[in-house]
Amino acid sequence: MDSPNDSLPTITLKPREERRLRHGHLWVFSNEIARADGEIPPGALVRVMAGHGAPLGVGIYNPHSLIAVRMTSRASAPLDLAWFRGRIGRALALREKLFPGERTYRLLHSEADGVPGVIVDRFDRVAVVQIAALGMEDRRELLYDALMEIEGIDGIVERNDNPLRTLEGLPQRVGIGRGVADPQIISDGRLRYHLDPLGGQKTGFYLDQRANRLAMRPFAAGGRVLDLFSNYGGFALHARDAGASSVIAVDSSALAVAEIERNRVLNGIGPIETRVADVFSELVELQTAKETFDVVIADPPPFARSKKNVVAARKKYVELFAGSLGLLGTSGFAFLATCSHHITRETFLEIVRESLFRARRAGTILEERGASPDHPVHPAMPETGYLHGVIIRAER
Ligand code: SAH
Repeated sequence: MDSPNDSLPTITLKPREERRLRHGHLWVFSNEIARADGEIPPGALVRVMAGHGAPLGVGIYNPHSLIAVRMTSRASAPLDLAWFRGRIGRALALREKLFPGERTYRLLHSEADGVPGVIVDRFDRVAVVQIAALGMEDRRELLYDALMEIEGIDGIVERNDNPLRTLEGLPQRVGIGRGVADPQIISDGRLRYHLDPLGGQKTGFYLDQRANRLAMRPFAAGGRVLDLFSNYGGFALHARDAGASSVIAVDSSALAVAEIERNRVLNGIGPIETRVADVFSELVELQTAKETFDVVIADPPPFARSKKNVVAARKKYVELFAGSLGLLGTSGFAFLATCSHHITRETFLEIVRESLFRARRAGTILEERGASPDHPVHPAMPETGYLHGVIIRAER
């Protein structure tokens, strides 16, 4: 659909605004643009030029978004089927190296895999797609063509219920994009899970915590474990499978909690106590009942949905983490995490320090962790590294 590159419309940046792009970043903000060639249709592929005329590559344009251009190539590649095949092929090769023989992983992690605004989670035979950029929405049939060419993929689900889409003027849409999307049984290499690609939260299963669930197994062995915000029980199931003496999983979603029991049976794991409850009230109840644990996992939803919320979110994280650490016995371990794009690593570490202080615990950080490596981080775009976590040993 895109015209040959010499005839692409041109966006010229203001003087010196090319520096971020030169350092590897892939976005042009609307206030950095000096001029656009005539009327450029939203979603079009454009050539981007520095103020002094040097070519910077091509990208997709949306005049109605603060992110006016998302770069798709440093050269001047057209955005055709070959481009999608190339990007997907490279991303797939990485996942096959990370998880040999497996078929469940994040296949495309937007800018970090060179496909701006597109996230694809592969759950065995189904690819679940989230698109947050108009230029990609317009070319989604090419993306789907390239995904359907992958051996073992039978269907595509569109999970376009992300509020970010509103910023790009895109409608909310959830449903089958191609083929069939039957419920699957997926594997994280160690355990199996029921997954309905058309139901569930976010893209259905939190793949980003995969490596962290494994990392917590040695600490869980033999201990009493509390999994807060357990969702489908990723941490709880691994803890019990690793030999925890008891596991309590807490989540406010009855649907998610019901999945824990199904997944427990599927894997033939021992009992897990599940509680459908608000974590903050549950923390108070457990404290009042003087219950203690050897391991606490606190993996909440993002509390800071925008920059404006960071101050309020910080307080909420401290309340949660201090409450979690307070439930540990004389000595214990905690995995604390945030997945808010607006909470930086530095802020997260300050939150952790403050939480230890509030819980009157001495603590050491055993490991600082991020998302699993199928969620790569673009070094020039810290916003692609949204997940921060620590494994802590805490003592009274
Ligand atoms: N730890 C999970 C992922 C957590 S996602 C895993 O490893 O897969 C966040 C979860 O928090 C969701 O399942 C959501 O239902 C739940 N949740 C959100 N707010 C909550 C609250 N106030 N109390 C309890 N659960 C909550």
